[in-house]
Amino acid sequence: MFKLNEKAAGLTPYAPNTAALPVRLDANESFLPLPDALREKILREALALPMNRYPDPEARALREAFASRYGVPAENVCAGNGSDELISVLLQTFLQKGDALATVSPDFSMYAFYGYLAECRHVEIEAGADWEISVDKVIETCNKENVRLLIFSNPCNPTGRGVPREEILRLVRSVSALVVVDEAYMDFWDQSVLNVCTEYDNLLVLRTCSKALGLAALRVGFAVGNGTLIGALQAARSPYNVNALSQCAAAAVLRETEFCDGAARALIAAKGALEAGLRRIAEETGGFSPVPSCTNFVTLRLPDAAALNEALRAAGVSVRHFGGLSALRITAGTEEENAAVLSAVRDYFAKEKKGGAS
Ligand code: PMP
Repeated sequence: MFKLNEKAAGLTPYAPNTAALPVRLDANESFLPLPDALREKILREALALPMNRYPDPEARALREAFASRYGVPAENVCAGNGSDELISVLLQTFLQKGDALATVSPDFSMYAFYGYLAECRHVEIEAGADWEISVDKVIETCNKENVRLLIFSNPCNPTGRGVPREEILRLVRSVSALVVVDEAYMDFWDQSVLNVCTEYDNLLVLRTCSKALGLAALRVGFAVGNGTLIGALQAARSPYNVNALSQCAAAAVLRETEFCDGAARALIAAKGALEAGLRRIAEETGGFSPVPSCTNFVTLRLPDAAALNEALRAAGVSVRHFGGLSALRITAGTEEENAAVLSAVRDYFAKEKKGGAS
């Protein structure tokens, strides 16, 4: 009988929230639909695609659209089937069995997952008590542990906190490891290192179309770095990794500067409103603390995150519960969605107070 090896037997599938609740604020997606005119333009272009042919293996038009929006050379950009695929490919490519991979904790869980598949040695660097990241500690650990690759999100999912650009560059200059900065949420903040990343031989930046641009369904992400690093990634990825429909649609959206800028602004404003509302409730009740966020979500820390999560579910609101961190991550939504979440949080603490008093 065929037996799974230890590595395969030890896998557990990624478990996104799939509950069909009316208010979905659990995956950091955009709440903005594409404008009708843009959808129609994409449809027209899609209809003209030769479906019997493989897509452009180099995704040239897509990379050029990304490059011109973000001011980087197209030859320094590698496109992926979501940045998720690129994380998997780059860990397999730049690490050999037993090499040290460093991640920050808490951070996006897929780094450790793909590191496990790449059979590397995992070094975890704990964030501080307020989830702040000490760049000095990261540098020291990387150098002491002979870390070959360091990957972290900036701003961070799930904490929402960010490390300023100058600190990131100081880190890159102070370690021999390859530093991968996952800027999935950087459209919501202004501390990107994208425009200088090709000047470093040990820096790769990841971006995605899934958040501010609202294209999570298309699965399109990018890695940007110097020629040597991008050359290796291009050689390692599968030949037609981004399908023709996604190439065509994401390129069309990236070319719509006004829509892209406006979408990011609208999501930042929605996050600001959600954060302010939560802060008001936190001040009234003292039951939790929202972590200041540079992203499109707000994370709450509270002793009984599971109970608040249940109360939100009962009110039809789905958010992401991090049991181990005793935290809830709430994606900013439309005005109505934000109002629904705020009212459910307020009700929960009002009931708690009554329960505590009786
Ligand atoms: N990096 C971070 C930090 C994320 O939060 C996510 C999505 N949750 C991803 C990467 C994956 O994004 P994509 O949709 O491009 O695969």
